Amino acid sequence: MGNIIEFDNVSFRYEADIEGEMLPLAVDSVSLGIEQGSFVAVLGHNGSGKSTLAKLTNAINIPESGKVTVDGMDTSDEKLTDAIRRTVGMVFQNPDNQIVATIVEDDVAFGPENLGVPPAEIRQRVDDALKAVNMFEFRKSEPHKLSGGQKQRVAIAGVIAMQTSCIVLDEPTAMLDPNGRREVIATIKKLNKEMGITVILVTHFMDEAVQADRVVVMDKGRIIMDGTPREVFSESDRLIAVGLDVPQATQLAAALIKKGVQISSDLLDENECIDAVCELLRSK
Ligand code: ADP
Ligand code: MG
Repeated sequence: MGNIIEFDNVSFRYEADIEGEMLPLAVDSVSLGIEQGSFVAVLGHNGSGKSTLAKLTNAINIPESGKVTVDGMDTSDEKLTDAIRRTVGMVFQNPDNQIVATIVEDDVAFGPENLGVPPAEIRQRVDDALKAVNMFEFRKSEPHKLSGGQKQRVAIAGVIAMQTSCIVLDEPTAMLDPNGRREVIATIKKLNKEMGITVILVTHFMDEAVQADRVVVMDKGRIIMDGTPREVFSESDRLIAVGLDVPQATQLAAALIKKGVQISSDLLDENECIDAVCELLRSK
């Protein structure tokens, strides 16, 4: 399949508050294609340009130079902004800043209403979207009474109800407890695997990034690594050099190797670790 989003040598810089002063590029010469239907994680320490990159995907930010296209549409063309935002939906970090209505189902209906979708279809879309994120039973609830993870799932339902083919989530689990994080990540995976929605997940949690098809690592506005989770996490020294962690399983494997244990260096999670250790014990 082709690319739904294409970055062609894109740079972006914010405007300085002080006149005459020029800020450095927040995104620097990025070329990146996001394949339709893929699940891509974007990693990078604070200030590396992840949020700026995310906002370039749906015309919140417009490139200073280079070009971003969404389904062939140039994001710098204002006439296309609505169509672009019907293609790429965004979920942000703080669930409280994204919920606008006082009843869950009204909140999910807000996007399609603004698109002028007929009421009967809105009803159907809202119900389907809430079922997709496992929040249908809370449709009459007041959002402020929900947990953080539940609120994020309502925000995701709001994007699903817009029927965008791509969803960009900017650290959607950063403010959640472990349970909320698990719920949200399970929901994101389901959207990708079962509904075929393209997912870009900005995160600083390694255990979330390992679940993607592809991991892109940013540093100082540039993409410095791009590959499968296994390819990227096997280079733990480079990740540590740009201020990132490596998954616990990878750390454990590295520590065992240092002690002379012959174990694979690219273990990504607990299960792979368990299997590798069992294999070792059996072979003794
Ligand atoms: P990340 O999401 O990886 O933490 P950001 O994209 O938010 O990184 O930031 C990239 C760079 O742009 C940082 O140096 C940050 O300080 C700067 N920046 C972000 N937002 C603004 C803004 N509104 N005005 C000026 N500089 C900004
Ligand atoms: Mg950010």
